[in-house]
Amino acid sequence: MTTLPPPAFHAPAKDLLGPKGWSEDPEKLNAAATPWRGTFQGATPFLARPAATEEAAALVKLCAAHRVAITPQGGNTGLVDGGTPHGEVCVSMTRMNAVREVDPFNNSMVIEAGATLVAAQDTADAANRLFPLSLGSQGTATLGGLISTNAGGVAVLRYGMMRDLILGLEVVLPSGEIWDGLSGLRKNNTGYDLKHLFAGAEGTLGLITAATFKLFPKVQRATGWVVVASAADVVKLLAVVRDHTGDSVTSFEIIPANAVAMVTADIPGTRDPLPANADWRVLVEVSQPTAAQAGLLLQNALEAGAEAGLVQDAVLAASDAHAKAFWTIRESIPLSKRAYGTALNQDISVPVSRIPDFIAACNAAVRGVVPQADFVIFGHVGDGNLHYSVVEPADAPAPFLKAQEAAVTRTVFDTVMAFGGSISAEHGVGRLKRDELARLRPAAATETMRAIKRALDPLGIMNPGRVVSV
Ligand SMILES: Cc1cc2nc3c(=O)[nH]c(=O)nc-3n(C[C@H](O)[C@H](O)[C@H](O)COP(=O)(O)OP(=O)(O)OC[C@H]3O[C@@H](n4cnc5c(N)ncnc54)[C@H](O)[C@@H]3O)c2cc1C
Repeated sequence: MTTLPPPAFHAPAKDLLGPKGWSEDPEKLNAAATPWRGTFQGATPFLARPAATEEAAALVKLCAAHRVAITPQGGNTGLVDGGTPHGEVCVSMTRMNAVREVDPFNNSMVIEAGATLVAAQDTADAANRLFPLSLGSQGTATLGGLISTNAGGVAVLRYGMMRDLILGLEVVLPSGEIWDGLSGLRKNNTGYDLKHLFAGAEGTLGLITAATFKLFPKVQRATGWVVVASAADVVKLLAVVRDHTGDSVTSFEIIPANAVAMVTADIPGTRDPLPANADWRVLVEVSQPTAAQAGLLLQNALEAGAEAGLVQDAVLAASDAHAKAFWTIRESIPLSKRAYGTALNQDISVPVSRIPDFIAACNAAVRGVVPQADFVIFGHVGDGNLHYSVVEPADAPAPFLKAQEAAVTRTVFDTVMAFGGSISAEHGVGRLKRDELARLRPAAATETMRAIKRALDPLGIMNPGRVVSV
């Protein structure tokens, strides 16, 4: 299979896409081949920007006829080297961003894959509904990319991952055939649930062109900042808060004290909401139809946590601005960590109950490799999902981390597996974790994935080399 398109591909591709639908401008090709973080440089010979499903289907058919490989791309914000082309034709979906339908009585909406997450949230809001997915890249990340990576974010505890938020999909298959599965049905037991194959497939099984999403009643949130002594107390506090709020906890984020210090040193105008000597903070949100209900529930839950000796100190946000200040600290951790020094970052998950033991065991194992290591461990603890970073200050007298990167990464992954966890909680596999996953997951799972890939994409043109090698 060629990755560089043959000359016979170009003229019909340009014809079917129209003048706005393609580019060979080196600057644009370069931008499409540079990921959000700019950490590496990919390459693409041709940028296609279809404007409609039929156009996308005709393009994929043409690619199949010429054995031309495709990398589907949304906002290019993915973190695992999945959507950045490495020689493939880049199919950017951002022109396909129309809202096709909003049905508030069915609590559903149909939107094209190239729309941003913020556009989907705004569309729901205008219909007096909630689309609950929320994450740091939401202004740029597209619905197609978010479905393809089965994105998570800060409200998974209450609403689930992206896979849980879709009712149907429209997909251009690797043959160029269109599968119209845009059903808005909640009950549809008619065999294999195909939409779940494409969610999390990272563009390896087809090009998602539109999706039907679930909508929810709008809610008001109460936000709290809690000082907690240990990771074990954080996990116990989550159980207490869930018991007392009827499971209306939307977010439960763990933040280490050293991350608060990094952010307040790095970002002007930020301050520690409750300075204290304890090692951990929790950012908790509870959702209810009214702010008063949410506030009362959260207050009762934290009082119960204090009675159980789990809460050292706590403050409830008195306004939206106050809540935003809490969230700014949480959301600034990745950037401030980068300003602080070098870090090896992993997006892992383990069963919630095992988080405290995992942190202790993994830190000890990493220190067995690099005794000087320090750690920043934060994330969606309610989902068992930790962003686990081994860090080295920029002014370390003898830099040690880069030289030990492979050994540290393997140590973290092996510990995660020993705790029954996953080495990719929400960011996906891409090219970055493909080989490590082939080593770690059961051979039966890898073989089944290969069989599915071969069955749907026998020519191997859809985002080759991502997720699983065939
Ligand atoms: C600051 C920041 C914060 C983040 N926070 C979170 C977080 O909290 N939780 C989380 O889960 N993730 C997070 N992410 C990563 C997140 O996975 C991506 O932002 C998002 O899911 C990818 O969307 P995208 O449109 O940018 O897709 P891209 O990066 O363009 O592509 C991602 C993958 O999807 C495929 N793809 C894209 N569009 C389509 C399509 N239409 N059809 C088929 N395949 C397609 C690509 O080929 C690629 O494999 C974060 C990223 C950043 C930069």
